[in-house]
Parts: sequence; C-alpha cells; structure tokens
Amino acid sequence: DSDRLLLSDEWDDDGFAPAEHALPVLAVVGRPNVGKSTLVNRILGRREAVVEDTPGVTRDRVSYPAEWSGRHFTLVDTGGWEVDVAGIESKVAEQAEVAISLADAVVFVVDAQVGATASDERVVELLRRSGKPVVLCANKVDGPAGEADAAYLWALGLGEPRPVSALHGRGTGDLLDAVLDALPEHSAHGTLRPEGPRRVALVGRPNVGKSSLLNKIAGSERVVVDEVAGTTRDPVDELVEIKGIPYWFVDTAGIRRRVHQTSGADFYASLRTQAAIEKAEVSVVLVDASVPLTEQDTRVISQVVDSGRALVIAYNKWDLMDEDRRPYLEREIERDLVQVTWAPRVNVSARTGWHTDKLVRALETSLESWDTRIPTGRLNGFLGELVAAHPHPVRGGKQPRILFATQASTRPPRFVLFATGFIEAGYRRFIERRLRETFGFEGSPISISVRVRE
Ligand code: GDP
Ligand code: GDP
Repeated sequence: DSDRLLLSDEWDDDGFAPAEHALPVLAVVGRPNVGKSTLVNRILGRREAVVEDTPGVTRDRVSYPAEWSGRHFTLVDTGGWEVDVAGIESKVAEQAEVAISLADAVVFVVDAQVGATASDERVVELLRRSGKPVVLCANKVDGPAGEADAAYLWALGLGEPRPVSALHGRGTGDLLDAVLDALPEHSAHGTLRPEGPRRVALVGRPNVGKSSLLNKIAGSERVVVDEVAGTTRDPVDELVEIKGIPYWFVDTAGIRRRVHQTSGADFYASLRTQAAIEKAEVSVVLVDASVPLTEQDTRVISQVVDSGRALVIAYNKWDLMDEDRRPYLEREIERDLVQVTWAPRVNVSARTGWHTDKLVRALETSLESWDTRIPTGRLNGFLGELVAAHPHPVRGGKQPRILFATQASTRPPRFVLFATGFIEAGYRRFIERRLRETFGFEGSPISISVRVRE
C-alpha cells in the first residue's frame, strides 16, 4: 500500500512531555512499605519496570500513563521517592503534599495489617485540607480474614476503606472503579484548557530570589482573593493581578515556605520544580546574575523545554551585577544557553522591583508564541520556497523530498512534515531555524517530526 504513511521512528517522539498532562492525574500516596509500588505495578499491569529500581537510586520518572475500563489517566507514583529515616514523618508528609498538589484525585494507601499510624494521620490532615477526592485503599488484605482490619480504617474519616491485596490483585478492580468515580474527566491542571488566567511557574535553584520576586510582584500589585469564574483553585496557587490581568502563580506554597536544606532537599526541590512546570503554561526560570551560571540552572531550563512549556529566563539580582562580570556573563549565555536562544532574557531585581514590568511583557510574548498556529497554506508556501532554494542534500544517490507540512498542535507548536525519505537532523534543525526566523516563536519550544511515506 504505497499511500500508507509510516511513522519514522527517528522523529516519532519529539521528547516533549506528552499531552497526557491534560488527562486527570491520580496520585498514590502513603507512608513507606504500605504497598504503593506494588499497587502501581498492578494498575499499570507491570508494563513499567518500577520494581527493578535499585534501592537508594531515586527514580526520575514520577508519572505514568495508565488506563482502566477504557479511561485514561496519569498515575503519579511516590513509591520510589527517597525517604530519610530521620524525620520520617515530615518527609512522608512532604512527599504526600507534592503528590497531592499534582493530583486531581488521590489513592491513599494504608497497611491494614498495621492499622493507621501517626504518619498516616498527618497525611489524612493534608488530604482533608486539599479538598481533593480520596479513595482509601486498605492494603494487605490478602484474604477474607483481613476484612475486619480494613473496617478499622473507617476511623480515618475518609469514607469507605476498600480492602485490597495489591500483591495478589484481590479487590483492585473495585478500588479502580471507585477511583474512576472520583476522577474528573479532565485534569484541573490540563494545559489544554484555554479558559481562565494564564498559569505561571517561578522556578530556579534555591536562593536565586523566587520568593523575593513573588513577594515583590504580589505585594506591589493588587492580590485578588475572590474566585475568578470558571477556574478551579488549588490552595497552593496564588492569583495575582498585574496591570489588570490576573495570573495564577502555581505552587507558591513551596516557594513561600522555606524548604529546609537537609539531605534530599535537592530531590524535593527538583520534584517541586517539575510539578510546578507541568502545572504551568509558562515558566520563569530565575538565575542569579551576580554569580556564574550553574549546571543546576541549565537543568531547570532543560526541564521547561522538555516539558514543552513556554519559557522566560530572568537574570535576577541585577543590582549586584559588577560591570567586570558582564563579559563573562555574555560568554556563559553563548556557551550554556545556545539551545535556548529563542527564550526571552530579562534582567531584573527582585529586591528593587526593577524591570518586573519587562518580565511580564516577556511572559505574554512567550505565551503568545506558545499559542501560535501557522495556517497550513502559509506553512507550505514558506516550506516550498525554502526547500526549492535549499534542497535536502543527496545521500546515497537519493534525495528525500518534503511533500507537505502541517502544524499538528499548539501549546507548544508541533509541526509534522511528510517526506519521501529520511530527513537528516541537521536539515531538520535548519528548517526549525528558518521557521523561527520567519514566524517568531520567541519563548516557545517547537517540535518538528517527520513522517515518511513509503
Ligand atoms: P511502598 O514502599 O509503599 O511502595 O511499598 P512496596 O510496594 O514496596 O511494598 C512493601 C512491601 O509490602 C513489599 O514487601 C511488598 O511485597 C509487600 N506488599 C505490598 N502489597 C502487599 C499486599 O497486598 N499483601 C501483602 N501481604 N504484602 C504486600
Ligand atoms: P529563593 O530561595 O529562590 O526563594 O530565594 P529568596 O527570594 O529567598 O532570596 C535569597 C536571597 O537573595 C535573599 O537573601 C534575598 O534577599 C536575596 N535576593 C533576592 N533577590 C534579590 C535581588 O534582586 N537583589 C539582591 N541584592 N538580593 C536578592
């Protein structure tokens, strides 16, 4: 069948976090050893090698695409998150808090054989405060004899405990049915929801000035307390009105409460960062202009790019900038930020409030790029001229031709090229460069994938 379009493996995956973030998010929380990972594996049908993780090595992946009875959702697994033995209760609570903030509904796992512990009670408190739907999983009920243990968990005040054996699969079907009842159709964090104020994340390594900037912005402008129609509000998000336009600043609880610099803080910081980025449409990555750029800074920038969100880079503490440092800074930008030359860079001072207006304009620019759609006619006109003037190099006597292109989606813009053969990475980058030169896309990652017509 010569008309069949085949996905070229090479470009099938554009590396962006998939659109699954618009799917409802289910988090599995509970203290260590209650059976979270076992349950997650069962839900995923063991498609993911969660169990093979080496103890002590933190898993970087926290969410998985999952399906039950034809409903798709994103499963957030906290089972592999590192927990220090010292201060274990606060760690459990902290993990749970991050997971809950990510979730649209929560499965709270308790070991029915042990019963509710003080750690469990703390998580119950967080769950209550979150107001999110909770399904209580009374795990390790391996047989009918354990049902009585499960019944004790009514005392937690979270409704009916569902007796489950994650290990043997007993009761997991009923549990998942209850989960589907609790899960909303779409995620409250879904990036595909067009309505409501834009969602902004302030991210960056510790001490770059995130909380100072948030205070400056929220403090100098009117903070809107009442609800804006049509928005679901997460208590960790703050609605801030700037020049008459409301924005959600997401996950601000993590910014406002100083996270203790204990071991593992890096890990939590990075989880929070990821959560905030995915919840937001645009991220402002703060870096400290007064000191050299660090690997941690560029890692956060990569996180934003990889999740396909709009990006603004803010060089903070500009009031501390020594003129002698200027040339070094320029060199760092050329060397370390070469992959993101498309991102607007704004020099600001959270201390004095200098240039925060520019920052807001950059946010708007990036969001606009993120939303941009190039009509198919214009896109093909542009591509036709480009390809005629700069054809793909001949390889092995063959020259792949680009037949047609379309923009498959916005937020971020994704382009699909239909071609007669393999398109080299270098040529693809060339097309991306020209796309940007022609259409802008300042502040937004874009992806180009190729489908090869056989
Ligand atoms: P997590 O730390 O909450 O992710 O817990 P794990 O999934 O790693 O499970 C901790 C231990 O409890 C493991 O030894 C599991 O085999 C065991 N376990 C998990 N679910 C069950 C269950 O339903 N019944 C029994 N008897 N053991 C279980
Ligand atoms: P966070 O950890 O990213 O939230 O950083 P903070 O907002 O707590 O700031 C860390 C430190 O940097 C604090 O002592 C701030 O006062 C200081 N700081 C933040 N922004 C600026 C700035 O623009 N200029 C100067 N001079 N100091 C700043």
